[in-house]
Amino acid sequence: MKLITMNSYFNFENTYTYLPKCFFTLQDIEEVPSPDLVIFNDKLAKSLDINIPSNDKKELAKIFSGNFNNKNMNTFAQAYAGHQFGHFTNLGDGRALMLGEHLNKCGKRFDVQMKGSGVTPYSRQGDGKAALGPMLREYIISEAIHYLNIPTTRSLSVIKTGEDVFREKKLKGSILTRIASSHIRVGTFQYAAAQQDIKILKSLFDYTVDRHYSELKNSNEILMEVLKEFSLKQINLITHWMRVGFIHGVMNTDNMTLSGETIDYGPCAFMNSYDPNTKFSSIDHMGRYCYKNQPIIAQWNIARFAETLLPLISSDLDEAIKKAEDVIKSIPETYKTCWLNMMRKKLGLVDKDNEDENIINSLLSWMEKNNADFTNTFIDLMNEENLDQSIYKSNDFKNWLEIYKKRKLSKNFSKSKSLKLMQENNPVIIPRNHIVENVLSSADEGDLKPLNKFLKILENPYDNNLKISNYYKTDIKSGEPYMTFCGT
Ligand code: AMP
Ligand code: MG
Repeated sequence: MKLITMNSYFNFENTYTYLPKCFFTLQDIEEVPSPDLVIFNDKLAKSLDINIPSNDKKELAKIFSGNFNNKNMNTFAQAYAGHQFGHFTNLGDGRALMLGEHLNKCGKRFDVQMKGSGVTPYSRQGDGKAALGPMLREYIISEAIHYLNIPTTRSLSVIKTGEDVFREKKLKGSILTRIASSHIRVGTFQYAAAQQDIKILKSLFDYTVDRHYSELKNSNEILMEVLKEFSLKQINLITHWMRVGFIHGVMNTDNMTLSGETIDYGPCAFMNSYDPNTKFSSIDHMGRYCYKNQPIIAQWNIARFAETLLPLISSDLDEAIKKAEDVIKSIPETYKTCWLNMMRKKLGLVDKDNEDENIINSLLSWMEKNNADFTNTFIDLMNEENLDQSIYKSNDFKNWLEIYKKRKLSKNFSKSKSLKLMQENNPVIIPRNHIVENVLSSADEGDLKPLNKFLKILENPYDNNLKISNYYKTDIKSGEPYMTFCGT
């Protein structure tokens, strides 16, 4: 086998392995029978200063399958726990291995993780493998979220392993290489707290501060400051999701990062017609993770994070609880302010007015009653000529429009500023479910053209002037409700 020296491509330094041993298991990557490159994110590689020959498909396939001499590279699987649908479980990377922490030229650190690379000590009953469809799905949606200007892990490559994986049927085994500013999860803190050793917990906390909260390092109240800052990162993230109609689908505490990036694209999907109860996941029977519940679940998850910190906040438990509760209780109000400001931008309101909440909520009720498409309604409000469509002919809508127009023309109104706000906050293109499915089924049959074309389109979601066919812009209803499945 040809020897590939990773350090000519990456600048690895695996600081996670300096944490106490309970946080990870060192494991070499297994070879796969016949690696074949499906997609490589050349732009992302360049932006991270990863110097890989992007036109050498064979070399890329070897690297991102683990088919190189990877002994002594300190590749590892992470241990974590988590509340899954409200139930606490010990978890960990059951089908992923960290290739390494790459430092770009400015010294910024990124995890490079292979997902679908085989069993680890955390695999439980799983086979450690992943299939082509779900890995390409993560690639598409995570890149879409990135170009929508929302914090997220990214996707660097997908390879087929040449192996079959068995779910309900035989599927093509694949590995996704994911880039994240770290993989520290609320569940990692829950795992640390469960060790019942304050030194272990403190080591994870200090490590997390170094990676994500270094600006708070000299604060006297660092624990409370980190908790507050983490809450703000999550509120910001959820507000973005609500803005574009994104439903994560599995907001378990192990799928919430300390970095504030969206992670673990399993059963996620974008909402078409506006309905606050929208959920797509086949296993989310109660709608725990439906669209409208996302901010509430975020608060619940942040509370689980706060609980893990209690022994570090104060040796007096009552005092620690009181301090943490103050932060948790303030979340709904902070979220509401962020949400209102975000909705104002979607409507091109350049200033604030007490009536705004009513105006926003009446539009949303109208949308819900009339099955209006969430994305397209805002596009139509940006382009007045679109308002002659039949859906906008009702008196209900006309009345609302009159109130909205009057409100919009406030004393601070500026046409260009208002339009700019709307254009920056209302995507013209989202990854519509029917297109994602079509692109994935073509890719499974070996035709990658629709995938590549779609990814190109998703790079400019706010470009109003882009000439794209209606196929990409409308919701094509198949008759059946759209359903998604977890990545397994
Ligand atoms: P996820 O739904 O991807 O967030 O995964 C939840 C947990 O299940 C994590 O601990 C994963 O590592 C684990 N897991 C998911 N799929 C597999 C698999 N095929 N084999 C082993 N572990 C898995
Ligand atoms: Mg997960």
